Amino acid sequence: MPSKSSPSSTIIDGRAIAAKVQGGWLQVINCLKQDGVQPGLAFVRVGEDPASKVYVGRKEKACAELGIFSETYVLPENCGEGKLLELIGKLNADPRFHGILVQAPLPGDFSEARVYSSVRPEKDVDGFHPVNVGKLMLGDATGFRPCTPAGICELLAQAEVKTGGAEVVILGRGNIVGKPLAAMLCQKGPHANATVTICHSATRDLKAHCQRADILIAAMGVAEFVKADMVKAGATVIDVGVNRVAGKLVGDVDFSAVQKVAGKITPNPGGVGPMTIAMLMGNTVEAARRFAARKNLSSHKTITE
Ligand code: NAP
Repeated sequence: MPSKSSPSSTIIDGRAIAAKVQGGWLQVINCLKQDGVQPGLAFVRVGEDPASKVYVGRKEKACAELGIFSETYVLPENCGEGKLLELIGKLNADPRFHGILVQAPLPGDFSEARVYSSVRPEKDVDGFHPVNVGKLMLGDATGFRPCTPAGICELLAQAEVKTGGAEVVILGRGNIVGKPLAAMLCQKGPHANATVTICHSATRDLKAHCQRADILIAAMGVAEFVKADMVKAGATVIDVGVNRVAGKLVGDVDFSAVQKVAGKITPNPGGVGPMTIAMLMGNTVEAARRFAARKNLSSHKTITE
């Protein structure tokens, strides 16, 4: 899947890897359907944030392509947190949905902690519920892993980037990417076992940390922050950031310069983004499979936990 681009770096094609990963779930979806279980995912959006509309639209499209049932619920910006919690309560009880995704950002006066905690952990395909966050920290595979960091781990595995013993430097300690990704990559086990450093705005000499990374992952939200002189020759560089500059989407990595130094690098767009959606689809299929297991239907045996 990786293809040669410049004399020195290999592009990690997130779109191709995501398509391959998603294709692997079709068989499971078909087995579940034969047992009368169609995986179902409810999207909840509050307000008319243009980026949120685009993100939910892409996820709806992925559901349609895979035969996952989905419905999108839109609440007005001024609906109040109580209305959102009420809707989540209804979706928690609705057997058509095995997963619920509440699209961020929420209005500023909403408590994200309260909202994400109100989704039942077994429907929390975003992996934001404290139960699932705790299971991630404990290395307990019965939880749901958040989609972007899980997608990055899958990307590294599929691109055959060795993480065992590697020096990984993550730029950003956000709850959605940086922190859970660090927890995943430092677990004892295959496709993990890395020595992880997390950098943030209080890090001293951030450049020096970057320069010794075998794998450098930028998840800051600062346009083209990572320059070529921050990257060790041959390192793998993963660009998570999404920034709008003069109407154009750019990542956290100065791609054209860094690709001359890196060994492997993700494009942006076309790297981490498609993997986030692929992992969401995977979590939804897994939630449906666990539902079938609770009902003791035979299809749940088609994938192992
Ligand atoms: P976040 O919660 O706002 O975290 C950003 C982190 O970057 C913070 O830890 C912050 O440090 C750090 N940071 C910002 N500027 C810095 C600087 N100049 N030097 C050092 N550290 C700095 O963001 P997030 O939710 O993790 O998202 C990060 C980026 O990934 C965003 O661009 C987001 O859009 C993107 N993203 C992409 C996907 C995808 O699917 N492609 C999914 C999720 C997020 P402090 O903690 O010290 O403030």
